[in-house]
Amino acid sequence: MEYRRLGNSGLKISALSLGSWVTFANQVDMQAAETMIAMAYDTGVNFFDNAEVYAQGESERIMGETLKRLNYARDTWCVSSKVFGGPVANPAPTQRGLSRKHVMEACHAALRRLQVDYLDLFFCHRPDPDTPIEEVVRSMNILIGQGKILYWGTSEWSAGEIAAAHAFAMRAGLEGPTMEQPEYNLFHRQRVEVEYASLYRDFGLGTTIWSPLASGILSGKYSQGIPEHSRATVAGYEWLQDKIQSDSGRAKVEAAGRLAALAQELNATSAQLALAWCLAKPHVSSAILGASRPEQLQENLGAIGLYKRLDEATVQRLEEITEPLAD
Ligand code: NDP
Repeated sequence: MEYRRLGNSGLKISALSLGSWVTFANQVDMQAAETMIAMAYDTGVNFFDNAEVYAQGESERIMGETLKRLNYARDTWCVSSKVFGGPVANPAPTQRGLSRKHVMEACHAALRRLQVDYLDLFFCHRPDPDTPIEEVVRSMNILIGQGKILYWGTSEWSAGEIAAAHAFAMRAGLEGPTMEQPEYNLFHRQRVEVEYASLYRDFGLGTTIWSPLASGILSGKYSQGIPEHSRATVAGYEWLQDKIQSDSGRAKVEAAGRLAALAQELNATSAQLALAWCLAKPHVSSAILGASRPEQLQENLGAIGLYKRLDEATVQRLEEITEPLAD
């Protein structure tokens, strides 16, 4: 495994991490979660990603129970939560967003569900136009002061919103966001590569990127149609099926299929190649893996070895195949 500084912070997180969105509770039960967390940890993964909204808190319950059972020393791994969407299906107005009330309560609830004394990383899952940035920055700093979170960050905030948080934090002598959690993969590059460019320079922003396989599309699995039990068949994820069956979706599936030949030349799989590309790009602190089965995780963890032998020519060929379709 390779360890990277999380932005300008002193925290070293593994270049590959493990997330639970869609999978934990829906596709991955407690037993499979234990197998996967143990497999990841044994390969050197030290960051496990979660959110209040995933499976309405059930995902954090499974992760917390599993980490407790595995009993790894708490100072060897990091866990995150994210606040915004609320932990129930139809949240009351006070149960969602980034008000101080919800930020505090979401943190306390995540600590209980994950059975930990502190969250290593705590993200504002989306920007909240109804809460002043000053309130958000102060709330996160209160939690840091109380030792309940160690680093705070954002997810899918615009560069302007992140810069505004830093500007206020600097004026007030507070900590600005250390990291962002943006979508980043061969089909989705603009924000990380262009929009955020000044944030790396001015604030040393770190990133823990999500959907490195574009929800599985980059593994090539959708080339022969939509396989049973794949994410596109999970209840509530019909949007993925629509996306795959749209004109641009079909073109992406076709392009992902073309990665297979390139991967074969390198004695690797398409998924490993797409993940290795993420690792080779600058500004990625950690790529969060998603996997619905231990075999997928095993395969995806192999991307670290491939990344170490990926050359510039291969990176370019990958980008030539996918760039015309990137949004
Ligand atoms: P990916 O894009 O890597 O998609 C993962 C899914 O692709 C798996 O669940 C599986 O789905 C399929 N897959 C994975 N590996 C393979 C393989 N080797 N062969 C075939 N299919 C494979 O990542 P996610 O979209 O899951 O995102 C990763 C993490 O990022 C999440 O768990 C979460 O922690 C975080 N995230 C954060 C967001 C945010 O807003 N901050 C938003 C989304 C995710 P299946 O088998 O069901 O087809």
